[in-house]
Amino acid sequence: KSGFISIIGRPNVGKSTFLNRVIGQKIAIMSDKPQTTRNKVQGVFTQDTSQMIFIDTPGIHKPKHKLGDFMMKVAKNTLKEVDAILFMVNASEPIGAGDKMIIEMLQGNETPVFLVINKIDEIHPDEILAIIDSYKEQYDFAEIVPISALQGNNVERLLATLESYL
Ligand code: GDP
Ligand code: MG
Repeated sequence: KSGFISIIGRPNVGKSTFLNRVIGQKIAIMSDKPQTTRNKVQGVFTQDTSQMIFIDTPGIHKPKHKLGDFMMKVAKNTLKEVDAILFMVNASEPIGAGDKMIIEMLQGNETPVFLVINKIDEIHPDEILAIIDSYKEQYDFAEIVPISALQGNNVERLLATLESYL
């Protein structure tokens, strides 16, 4: 199995930390994939049973930029081409208007969207379920996975779940 995965989320939610944890020293590919030149390949995770190519989706968090509409179109098309989307948020921060706009844009697409709730090490364990429930009430994600990219909690489970979508 192999597939493309886009990681999106506001600055500082932990996207790079997650990628570094998953890919670690195995980062090999620095060039763009030929057929998806607008997507920057950030890393490739290879294991016995699967290969996951993580890509960046530029522009998606700048809707107020003057190129906003164009960038959003590019981002939307990119997101249709991937096999799964990881939408990452910070467990200890409420989501903002930009996040909501992106979530709504992603709803109803065929590409499965995972809500990755990162930095769970910063909140009390009892809060995790309440956060998950509040997202579930409002939105329809393929999966909701709480993790700590920094400490590694639940990252293996996220990868295993992701694999089942490839
Ligand atoms: P990005 O902008 O989304 O790529 O975010 P980074 O990966 O650069 O992380 C931003 C900051 O959050 C850094 O200081 C990270 O060490 C920190 N961070 C990332 N993941 C976690 C986490 O799971 N727990 C905690 N406590 N901090 C984290
Ligand atoms: Mg980063």
